[in-house]
Amino acid sequence: MQTIALGIHGGCGVMARSDLDEAGWADARAELGRALQAGWDVLRADGSAVAAVEAAVVVMEDSPHFNAGFGAALNADGQALLDAAIMDGATLAAGAVSAVPCSRNPVRVARALMEAGESVMLTGSAADRFAETNGLAVMDPGYFVTDRQRQALARMQAHRAAGTDRLASEAEKHGTVGAVALDAAGHLAAATSTGGFTNKPVGRIGDSPIIGAGTYARDGACAVSGTGAGEFFIRHVVGHEIASRMRYLGEDIAAAANRVVMDDLAPYGIGAGLVAIDSLGRVVTPYNTQGMFRGWVTPDGTFHVGTHDEIYVLNG
Ligand code: ASP
Repeated sequence: MQTIALGIHGGCGVMARSDLDEAGWADARAELGRALQAGWDVLRADGSAVAAVEAAVVVMEDSPHFNAGFGAALNADGQALLDAAIMDGATLAAGAVSAVPCSRNPVRVARALMEAGESVMLTGSAADRFAETNGLAVMDPGYFVTDRQRQALARMQAHRAAGTDRLASEAEKHGTVGAVALDAAGHLAAATSTGGFTNKPVGRIGDSPIIGAGTYARDGACAVSGTGAGEFFIRHVVGHEIASRMRYLGEDIAAAANRVVMDDLAPYGIGAGLVAIDSLGRVVTPYNTQGMFRGWVTPDGTFHVGTHDEIYVLNG
């Protein structure tokens, strides 16, 4: 069998252990395991990297643990407006949606858009209309809003009113989901999905749906999905930058990804992390915060997940 591999993230941030009890952390790791399983099943059945990253991201969009789809972060008006993208490293085809109010699984809409081939990005209710036309689930906006995110918004707005934004926990502000994969045909793909950050300005669009910034895939180089302060991922065109370092400087995936997260982004004092994979199936997950929800499957089928420093092997 050809080498296949998969990596995922569920957002990075200052994740105080006290934010969840032990059962809560175990639950979050189990959700990461379910996302890995969904993507791995696709790859094992000779499915494409594109189908695998979509499948993994859908599981995390449907989970309230992550800031994407159901349970996404709310903007300043208390709405969940969702961003997502997917990219096929074999063809450089890409699809993205931004500020989408009702699509249950924005990553599915992004993939359908990529496959339709006419546009790379649709925004707002136009993306929902496209989803409906393509038989994808469209929900009432209330479906996406959880109590946890309502409380996070109230806390962020209280910080804003008191001028103490910088003291707010990163966990309240950020968290996004993403996946990268290498399939048996040797192709790479990446997908990312997010609600952005809590109390984001109405109409703000982050890096996740910006091809080359929060999401990028190119066969022969790498596939990347980012999480963290999106404005800086856009300015540094992070996904494309990592691929370019590999292509032009000959850096390996670890050197290129570390360089961008630790040298380019960290000096701004922002939280940043990503998952990236190369054509050999090597997965790296650098982050400059206290923790990052992440997981990967090595080519031999071993599932690894982590939130902080410890790595758990799920099927060892
Ligand atoms: N990168 C996302 C955004 O800026 C947020 C995050 O990953 O936490 O929209």
